[in-house]
Amino acid sequence: MIEQLDALYRDVILEHFKHPSHVGELPDATVTAEGANPLCGDELTMSLRLSQDRVVQARFRGKGCAISQAAASMLTQQLEGRTVPEVRSLIEAMRGVMQGQAPDATVDVGDLEALAGVRKFPVRIKCAALSWNVVEQALSTLSR
Ligand code: ZN
Repeated sequence: MIEQLDALYRDVILEHFKHPSHVGELPDATVTAEGANPLCGDELTMSLRLSQDRVVQARFRGKGCAISQAAASMLTQQLEGRTVPEVRSLIEAMRGVMQGQAPDATVDVGDLEALAGVRKFPVRIKCAALSWNVVEQALSTLSR
């Protein structure tokens, strides 16, 4: 379906798929979580290293379709430097984007914006959402 996307969105997604950023593992990760989207066969592991309330390093490892892997690359790119509440706001913004809402002006979603093109294909929204669902799961293991 990737060829059905608007060219602008498609190019950003394919660029991240072919040259993903932040791939790897963190031996000293503060939180790690894994998830899967069985409908499509996507798998993802997210590792975050936190210093106090801030993400200092984010890495992912995964396999699956272009959308799931590009989304993981786009998301990890946005995580480093954000505080946990800021990451939660980013996730909330992306859930809104997938439902057709413009992100809050105070939240910079970066290349994740390109995933807006995916919402025309409801079955693939789960591919995109896997990345933030796994991050949310990882953060949920933190004591608040
Ligand atoms: Zn997928």
